[in-house]
Amino acid sequence: MYKAVIGLEVHCELKTKSKMFSPSLNEYNPSPNQNISVIDLAFPGILPLPNKEAIRKAIKLSLALNCEVPNEVMFDRKNYYYADLPKGYQLTQMTKPFGKNGYLDINVQDKIKRVTIHQLHLEEDSASLDHHDGYSLIDYNRAGIPLVEIVTDPVFNNENEVIEFLENLRSIIKYCDISDASSDKGELRVDVNISMMKETDTELGIRAEIKNINSFNSVKETILYEIKRQREILEGGGKVKQETRRWVDEEKVTVGMREKIEAVDYKYYVEPNIPVVKLDNEFINEIKESIPVLPQERLQKYISLGVMVKDAKTLVKTKEVSDYFEETLRLGADAKEASNWITTRILGFMNTKNKTINEIYTTPQMLVSLINMIKSSKISTQQGKEVLELSLTEEKTPEEIVKEKGMEQISDDNVIRELVNKVLDENKAQVDTYKGGKTNIVGFFVGQILKASGGKANPSTTNKILMEELEKR
Ligand code: ADP
Ligand code: MG
Repeated sequence: MYKAVIGLEVHCELKTKSKMFSPSLNEYNPSPNQNISVIDLAFPGILPLPNKEAIRKAIKLSLALNCEVPNEVMFDRKNYYYADLPKGYQLTQMTKPFGKNGYLDINVQDKIKRVTIHQLHLEEDSASLDHHDGYSLIDYNRAGIPLVEIVTDPVFNNENEVIEFLENLRSIIKYCDISDASSDKGELRVDVNISMMKETDTELGIRAEIKNINSFNSVKETILYEIKRQREILEGGGKVKQETRRWVDEEKVTVGMREKIEAVDYKYYVEPNIPVVKLDNEFINEIKESIPVLPQERLQKYISLGVMVKDAKTLVKTKEVSDYFEETLRLGADAKEASNWITTRILGFMNTKNKTINEIYTTPQMLVSLINMIKSSKISTQQGKEVLELSLTEEKTPEEIVKEKGMEQISDDNVIRELVNKVLDENKAQVDTYKGGKTNIVGFFVGQILKASGGKANPSTTNKILMEELEKR
């Protein structure tokens, strides 16, 4: 019996104003070769200058992933020749990266699994190639965009663990606001390293590396495909080749690209034009303090406040929704109550209108005042649903809607007692019927009283007072 062993290399483009080592803009540009400079094009004599914002963001992610952040880092040249790399080398880190020995705990099938992170480093992206029949075009807009690379240890054994890790990683990246991490825009790309070993083996098997996978779904398909491919080779008595492969999404297969290049082939050496970057503790601590409470911690908090696990997961999915919920808690809302309104009504509205929570009219403050109106019996729960719907669609505060629609419930005992007696006086025959033992006629009185109040009498108060007044007759 063979089991799979998987390690990941995840590349994430950082959200910064300018590129990693040049002043060119780091932003999407539909026309090729616009965001470029002599540095990105590797003109002779150019000098790279590291981007401080990118450094901050790399440290932020390192800390969020529990890595050790050293007090000095270095950049290295990784030498290889390819058309998308004008300098003939990539500036990356190998000797002293921004993070080492980190971990992220993930929840798989109700068990905590610790994914250990070998290292996290900062590097520059390559240009992008557009292949045509017989020729290729090069777009340098992407060349030099800052990337963090997160390298995990080979600790995963199946696709579910990998996807859970990637989902968690992506949400941490977004909570820390270091990247939008959109797969569609290629901002998050994954290399999957995968090998097979027998349960009794003491050494890892020979791995294939499947490069540059864009979507999590393709990561999953790649792993399932490779497990099958490698198992068939091994069970047939063959040997898996150590090679670099790629996922062909149209055909749902991986194909070999080249034999794996070893680190030594890259002839790494320290970039001589960038001095050692010193990171003092004050700088690191300041970054540490800017890390928000992360999704895993929020999830535990919400569950402990009585929110259902499924809803809690929905709430922490994006920081904006979670922040909205946190604000309702701060304003004194009951967690379960607020969570119900948000996960059903508000998210439902956002979905149909394709809006984010920051784009809707109804603020946490308004939601809390709506909840309070229901709690104090000013309006019924049923009316509350209508009020929220109208607040969202007509962009008015709950108070405005309640007033406009004349929805306030009558809960004043004296007012209701007056109504009760009026109805009883007008229906003497039915009162006699009740006194004669036919108590189910109570429903008739309640109906008449509610009608007389224009539907506004609080039903439970009405019931209580009706019984009191019937007793007296
Ligand atoms: P390289 O730099 O040559 O790609 P590394 O040793 O840095 O090699 O490993 C890169 C990735 O491959 C890491 O994510 C690591 O966990 C994973 N890996 C290493 N050996 C194996 C193996 N035998 N099976 C699966 N994954 C592996
Ligand atoms: Mg590699």
